[in-house]
Amino acid sequence: MSLLIFLDQADGHIKKSSLEALSYGSKVAELMNTSAEAVVLGNVTDDLAALGNYGVKKIHTIKNDSLNHLDAQVYTKLVAEVAKSVGATVIIFSNNFSGKAIAPRLSVRLKAGLVSGAVALPDLSNGFVVKKNVFSGKAFANVSINTDIKIIALNPNSYSITTTSNTAEVAEFGATVDTPKIQVTATDKPEGEIPLSEAELVVSGGRGLKGPQNWALVTDLAKALGAATACSRPVADEGWRPHHEHVGQTGLAIAPNLYIAIGISGAIQHLAGVNRSKVIVVINKDPEAPFFKAADYGIVGDAFEVVPKITEAVKKLKGL
Ligand SMILES: Cc1cc2nc3c(=O)[nH]c(=O)nc-3n(C[C@H](O)[C@H](O)[C@H](O)COP(=O)(O)OP(=O)(O)OC[C@H]3O[C@@H](n4cnc5c(N)ncnc54)[C@H](O)[C@@H]3O)c2cc1C
Repeated sequence: MSLLIFLDQADGHIKKSSLEALSYGSKVAELMNTSAEAVVLGNVTDDLAALGNYGVKKIHTIKNDSLNHLDAQVYTKLVAEVAKSVGATVIIFSNNFSGKAIAPRLSVRLKAGLVSGAVALPDLSNGFVVKKNVFSGKAFANVSINTDIKIIALNPNSYSITTTSNTAEVAEFGATVDTPKIQVTATDKPEGEIPLSEAELVVSGGRGLKGPQNWALVTDLAKALGAATACSRPVADEGWRPHHEHVGQTGLAIAPNLYIAIGISGAIQHLAGVNRSKVIVVINKDPEAPFFKAADYGIVGDAFEVVPKITEAVKKLKGL
């Protein structure tokens, strides 16, 4: 019996959401009195042995150029092979793009119960009960997994990373890698931007900013804070900002430590993508804007007056 954690990598680096999954999985293994092992696919340049700091004992690697990009079917088959080989009874993913693609497929392949969107450690006092977000983060459900093999996909930014000072054993796992059915021929990445899905600080703009010509308001504050930028859906639909910045029910769901919403009304479809943020700051000239009900801090005022003052204050504080 063991516990297996899937590690997600991009450009050879382990993603922050996977470090959360590592800390979470290692704690679950401790509660189950078993050991935590992990699997990573593709060529990774990070020091994998150092990931022992997050509590994992052994890391299985399958190095192969064709695994540098996610192919859900190929990945699922390999993770299943590793899981069977180590006798994993619990498998942990981050509930990010890769986790959402692989975990359900793995669940079918291993006939394993899956809870996606987990937000807390499982309760093992009476079976195996996992707390998860439901209704776009408006409520929680406690779900009991009753299968022999259990899969949990942990919501990003819902479990704190903890470190110790251990070293993990790293071992190449011998497996036949199928030829992926899809091939990534080129990737086009926005240069120098902080990836929104991994960002701890996010500054977001809505239709209240009137047009793309005013976006320096958002980007200047984001730059001063070291934050990623986001926007509401109409802003992306109107082409003021790229679609990969659109957050909400039909866009990205994010959970940063700080979400600053400028000139966004706070429609439920928008809140569905941001209401797991740890702290929400709303800047809106309408005191009745629904977003204020979800805000930790609110400023009623004209964004064109308020935001430059905040940016200046941040720059002064940081000596920029
Ligand atoms: C099926 C469906 C799915 C959807 N999915 C999404 C989604 O994923 N994400 C999303 O964002 N929306 C989504 N929407 C749209 C959503 O319902 C809202 O229409 C949208 O979020 C509104 O965007 P907004 O707040 O930027 O614009 P508006 O509703 O126009 O609000 C602009 C806000 O700016 C404020 N404002 C104006 N001028 C200033 C100023 N000078 N200073 C400060 N504040 C100012 C106004 O008071 C107002 O509150 C969806 C809708 C549907 C039907």
